[in-house]
Amino acid sequence: MEWIDTHCHLDEESFTQDCHDTIQRAVDAGVTRMLTIGTTLDSCRRALELAQTYGSVFAVVGLHPNYIQAAQPGDWERIVELSTAPKVVGLGETGLDKYWDHSPIELQTEYFDRHLELSRKLDLPFVVHCREAEVETVALLRRHFVQGPLRGVMHAFCGSADTAAACLEMGMYLSFGGMVTFKRNEELRQVSLAVPLDRLLVETDAPYLSPTPFRGKRNEPAHVRLTAACLAETRGVSKEVVAAATTENAQRLFRLA
Ligand SMILES: [Zn+2]
Repeated sequence: MEWIDTHCHLDEESFTQDCHDTIQRAVDAGVTRMLTIGTTLDSCRRALELAQTYGSVFAVVGLHPNYIQAAQPGDWERIVELSTAPKVVGLGETGLDKYWDHSPIELQTEYFDRHLELSRKLDLPFVVHCREAEVETVALLRRHFVQGPLRGVMHAFCGSADTAAACLEMGMYLSFGGMVTFKRNEELRQVSLAVPLDRLLVETDAPYLSPTPFRGKRNEPAHVRLTAACLAETRGVSKEVVAAATTENAQRLFRLA
């Protein structure tokens, strides 16, 4: 079986000591490819460096909604330059976060728009972060959907069935992380059932959101199998079915070789 972790943050400080071993553990576990997501300009540069060092690592570049308040003039232009580098396979993560509320919502909206415009211009998929802002996120996506189907993914999806349906209708993929394995999240598991197998992705969001039984510990790409196994069990299909489908979906969305 082969897996692709479509969302992790290998450049985070908690991996500085053992990033190499972490990637190796993932590959040994069948996680043949992983997408490391940049959150600031510096983080994107580190993500790209990792992608250029490891054959199994690909980079997604953008400015995270929680960090745009701290972005410097010119940072966005540098992101645009990085987005055409080899092994950059997507844009983000972008989106809206009303939980942390680190950046004014107007600024978050402006950057979300920028990422989506660039996505269409370069035909690169985008990665959406949405926290306590489902209505606003769907509204913004709908404005862009007027120009045609959206090529993107809702990362670590934890929204409602309605939000899932709206995103699917606009052509998007839904990616599930460790949260779907938590005992109390039965509702989220039910939502995952409504996602057609050809729109389903898996991720870790490592070092965050460790799946059961590693909850509370540092997460890593090798653990993506646990989340995938939970999705398979929920659907009543084999792990092989989910592995094959999610791998094919990730390859299609991010055009991975
Ligand atoms: Zn993330």
